[in-house]
Amino acid sequence: MTTNPRGRYPALRGALGGATAVALILAIPIISLGAFHGDPPDENHPWAVHDLRRPAPSVVTPGPKPGDPPSDAIILFDGSSLAAWETVQRTANGTVEIVPATWRMVDGALEVNPKSGSLQTKEKFGACQLHIEWRTPVTDHKPKWGPGEGNSGVYFIGMGTNLWGAAFYEVQILDSYENPSYPDGQAAAVYGQAPPLVNASRRPGEWQSYDIVFHPPKFDATGAVLDRASITVFHNGVLVQDHWLFEGATGFGRRAQFKPHPDTGHILLQDYGIPIQFRNIWVRPLPARTAPTPAEVAATRQQTAAQIRAEAQQAGGRRRFLLLLESLVYADDSATRTVVNESLAALNVEVTRMGEDAIKKNADELRALYQALKYCVRHKILAEPIPALGVIEQKLQAAGIKLP
Ligand code: MG
Repeated sequence: MTTNPRGRYPALRGALGGATAVALILAIPIISLGAFHGDPPDENHPWAVHDLRRPAPSVVTPGPKPGDPPSDAIILFDGSSLAAWETVQRTANGTVEIVPATWRMVDGALEVNPKSGSLQTKEKFGACQLHIEWRTPVTDHKPKWGPGEGNSGVYFIGMGTNLWGAAFYEVQILDSYENPSYPDGQAAAVYGQAPPLVNASRRPGEWQSYDIVFHPPKFDATGAVLDRASITVFHNGVLVQDHWLFEGATGFGRRAQFKPHPDTGHILLQDYGIPIQFRNIWVRPLPARTAPTPAEVAATRQQTAAQIRAEAQQAGGRRRFLLLLESLVYADDSATRTVVNESLAALNVEVTRMGEDAIKKNADELRALYQALKYCVRHKILAEPIPALGVIEQKLQAAGIKLP
């Protein structure tokens, strides 16, 4: 019952760089019909719903236990070295300079060397996930440190040789265990803007963790804010900042304002003159969250369609036809459409001639074709009428085979 398309439809040869109308009922394995299920790509979505062609996320091996760095993390401090860090130091004449890291390693922890300067990463980061563990010294909660008891801070978008205050976005570190301070300045506050949702502090002397997701703001060419910076913070595993949208750079005593700055900056740990300790610090740069533009969506769809047509060139029979059809789901192409339409005409002739035995023998393939064609009609990828579709439906039903 199979036919040789090259013999029967020689005129179609070359319609698509050597492709021809193809015989569809061939004894080839059933292929995945993942392409013909979920709603197709549109102007905002380069991929269909449940699209098997959508690039799979890269594989990351998580750390052995919570808080351990995953395989793609950049290790900033693991107890062995200060190599990732440098100190931002005020000089006697009031300027600021970058010097080798001045903080100390104490029993595998990184400890503030009081008044030596804040510590910043040598590398710059924009959007990122940061894990950091810290502890404040044990005190009697008498005003030894004043309001700054246990004070430090994690800053994003540090600007290097500017004063440490020019690191723009601070999550506060403070001893806030049964030790009240102003709420927008207690531990896990977005300093001066947002108190934590709850106070999840442990006692001073105990290790605590922050898991932070930070996104910098976006500015247009005039310096106007397109997208505010945002931050999500888990304090000891408890959500304390829920995608807080910054009102501007954090600071003391004044309402925040945004001022334009680069997309990346140093991550900075504050020297407030208190020997806070840190350990297990790692960071993962994150991609931007912005949705692709319609032009980017269209480009991705074209690229996917071209890849599928290249696959089709290597395939035969029904698989080639289904691939060409699938490519139209992503992007139209007149040469492909011509081959598909001519193949459908050939399919109509072929199925019309099939007896019940042949229909039963090819039932799986016919059902797969039926499903693909119905999908393309439903989503207006193919225009009706498609005689082959009606013939397949009729023949399957007559043979007592359930439609998909
Ligand atoms: Mg602070």
